[in-house]
Amino acid sequence: MLTEAPKGTKDIYGSYMEEWQRVEQVMRELCSDFGIKEIRIPIFEHTELYLRGVGETTDIVQKEMYTFKDKADRSITLRPEGTAGVARSFIEHGMYNNPQPTRRFYIGPMFRYENTQKGRQRQFHQFGVEMLGSYSPALDAEAISVVAELLKRLGIKDVELRINSLGCNECRQRYNTALKEYIGSNIDKLCDDCKSRFDKNPLRVLDCKEESCQRIIAEAPVVLDYLDDECKEHFETVKAILDDMGIKYTVDEKIVRGLDYYTRTVFEFVANGIGAQGTVCGGGRYDNLIAECGGQPMGCAGFAVGIERLLLMLEAQNGEFKETNEMDIYIGSIGKEGLVKSQGIAYRMRSEGIRAEGDSVGRSVKAQMKYANKIGAKYSVILGDNEIAEDTANLKNMETGEQEQIKVSELVEIMKKKING
Ligand SMILES: [Zn+2]
Ligand SMILES: [Zn+2]
Repeated sequence: MLTEAPKGTKDIYGSYMEEWQRVEQVMRELCSDFGIKEIRIPIFEHTELYLRGVGETTDIVQKEMYTFKDKADRSITLRPEGTAGVARSFIEHGMYNNPQPTRRFYIGPMFRYENTQKGRQRQFHQFGVEMLGSYSPALDAEAISVVAELLKRLGIKDVELRINSLGCNECRQRYNTALKEYIGSNIDKLCDDCKSRFDKNPLRVLDCKEESCQRIIAEAPVVLDYLDDECKEHFETVKAILDDMGIKYTVDEKIVRGLDYYTRTVFEFVANGIGAQGTVCGGGRYDNLIAECGGQPMGCAGFAVGIERLLLMLEAQNGEFKETNEMDIYIGSIGKEGLVKSQGIAYRMRSEGIRAEGDSVGRSVKAQMKYANKIGAKYSVILGDNEIAEDTANLKNMETGEQEQIKVSELVEIMKKKING
């Protein structure tokens, strides 16, 4: 137990960490281009926020939350997603007064007590964007375009965008009634989970993956047939904008998303390469959420991308990640005087932005040179008593094998020219 990470968690290091950082860098640049600013919300919130914000009937709230009492007997939950926290923050800090929309992104861990056999982690990571303060269909399309552009920049292929509209509250109400009627008349054929889902929220049944339920779902009324003119027009405009952006999509009436807060546009980016759990990104419009969390009603749209899933796809597509080894110079040493000087020179080089490393292990000269190769040093030099006394040493270009005689006292300046030009 002591030397094993808890089930569903993972250490991130090595080449995987490097790729992760590259992906995060792309996300940050992307958000900058879209005018989306970072927000860091707490990793835990009051449990009530998720009951209201995510919805009491959802699988997340029913089965998957890490909820505990703190020492003052408050009910606390590790965040299972980021949207509710951003909404809470928006209300708490009166961001209504901002010029709208308020665009925010977050990158960080989320926590859900899930079945790890399905390749899901209990601590997983999401990149999410929330755009708050507009009912315009432009916002829906913009949110979608952020994901499309992210996948483009990462070079991820074979991902399909599926969109749907759930309509406004009135449309959903009409649809719910029809759905209830249909499912109610087929209730005997549904799985036990669905029977209890049906009582709480019939829409939830549409998410069921059981084969017996799938057969019923296939014949169920579709929400698009229940949209009023305004909701239809909204959806048409979203599609028109996507068409103009050149972003391909398919309309999929079966997408309802697992969370209660969605209204009108919902979307998923689904990968064909990574099997049944291929949803890389889910999102949509959520006009009810801010009011649900205690604020004034406000139009919002957003999405979350699973970072582990992205990396899984990148690896499947590009092969195993490689760790890069890069060092500008290895400054080896012999004896005490050599050690002292080499460490001092290495330090001064780092202050100049030159990547330098000296011997901090006490290796033999031969082992030091081997090590210099391993860390990918572009240059190497060995400093011993003679080199320091005579202020002369041989600087070796590790790629070409060429050596040049240099003054030890000028080594920092020489390297500055070589590396920074
Ligand atoms: Zn409507
Ligand atoms: Zn079912």
